[in-house]
Amino acid sequence: MKITNIKVGTLEASLKKPFKTALRTVERVESVLVRVETDEGATGYGEAPPTAVITGDVARGIEGALRDHLAPPLLGRHVEDLEGNLALVDRTLVHNTSPKAALDMALHDLWAQRWHAPLWRLLGGAPRTLETDCTISLNPPEEMARDAAEAVAEGFHILKIKVGRDPKLDRERLHAVRRAAPKAALRVDANQGWTTKEAIRILRALEDDGLDIDLVEQPVPGYDLEGLKAVTDAVAVPVLADEAAVGPREVFRLLAMRGADMINIKLMKTGGIRGALAVCALAEAAGVEVMVGSMMETRLSVTAAVALAASRNVVTRVDLDTPFLCADDPVEGGALYDGPRISLWETPGLGITGVRSGRGQPS
Ligand code: MG
Repeated sequence: MKITNIKVGTLEASLKKPFKTALRTVERVESVLVRVETDEGATGYGEAPPTAVITGDVARGIEGALRDHLAPPLLGRHVEDLEGNLALVDRTLVHNTSPKAALDMALHDLWAQRWHAPLWRLLGGAPRTLETDCTISLNPPEEMARDAAEAVAEGFHILKIKVGRDPKLDRERLHAVRRAAPKAALRVDANQGWTTKEAIRILRALEDDGLDIDLVEQPVPGYDLEGLKAVTDAVAVPVLADEAAVGPREVFRLLAMRGADMINIKLMKTGGIRGALAVCALAEAAGVEVMVGSMMETRLSVTAAVALAASRNVVTRVDLDTPFLCADDPVEGGALYDGPRISLWETPGLGITGVRSGRGQPS
C-alpha cells in the first residue's frame, strides 16, 4: 500500500467551560488535521493541537512544517515500512514535535489498517478499560470545590487539580477540593508555577495537613531539572515530570539524575507513538511509572494516546479527559467514552471512520 496524498486541514471542538491552568486559558480546541491517503483508498488520520506555551508549536508553523517539509518525502512510500517512514519524519526537521506527532499517528493508523487490526492490539495490548481523571481548572477555591463535586457526581474517582498561582491560595484551593470530594484520588498539577522552595514548602505543609495526594505534577519550571530533583528529594508525595519530560533524550537525562518519580508522556511532546514507546522503555528500565496525558485535543489524537496507554504495563495512569471536557465531538469511531471509563475499539487502525473538519476544507 503506497502513500499517494497528504492533506492538511483543521479540526475544532468547543469546550463545556474554559480550561484554565497556571500557564494559559483555553476557550476552544483548534487543532491541525492530517489525512494521509493511499493508492488502495485507505485514510490515516492525525491531529496536532498547537500548544505554544509547552511545545513552541503554533498553528501556522505546524501547517507549514507538514505541507512544505514533512509530507513531500513520504509520497510514494510504502505504508508497511513504518519504521523507515517514522525515521524519515524524525530526521527531516529538528523540533516540531506536534506536526511529527500528527503524521506519526496517521502512519501508525494506516499501518494497522494494512494488517487489519486495531492499533492497540498490534502494539501488544489486550482488551481492557482505562479510567481517566477529570481536570479541575484553576479558579477561586469555592468554584474549584463546586467543579470537583460535579465531577464526582458524574462518576469520576480521580481529580486532577490545577494550581500554581499564589502558593498560599493553592493550599486553600486543595483543601476546598478535598472537602468537596473526600474520597477522590487527587492529582495536583502546578504547571511549572512554583519556585523550588515554594514547592517544597507547600508540599510539606499539605503533608502536615494530612491531605492525601496521589502525585504532584511539574511543580517547577520545565527547564529547571535540578530544581525538580530538589523537590523530588525533599517531599514524600511522588513527583511527576511533565513539561520537563519532553522526548526520549530529555527523559533519559532526567531519569539518569533521578530527577522525578514518574513521567508524563504526551504524544505532542514525544513527536508521536514511536518516541512515546522509547520513553516507556526508558521509564521501565529506570523502575519509574508512566502517566499518559494529552494537550487540549479532540478524541482523534486522544485515541492514539489510548492505543499507546493500553499497550504498555509501565503506563499505570491516564489523564485523557479532554473528550469529556468538549461540548461537541467532531470524530466518528475511535476510543469510546463513558464518563471516566475509556473502552477500546475493534475496527482496524485508530478506528476513525469520519472527521468533521473545522474552517475551510482540507487541502
Ligand atoms: Mg501537566
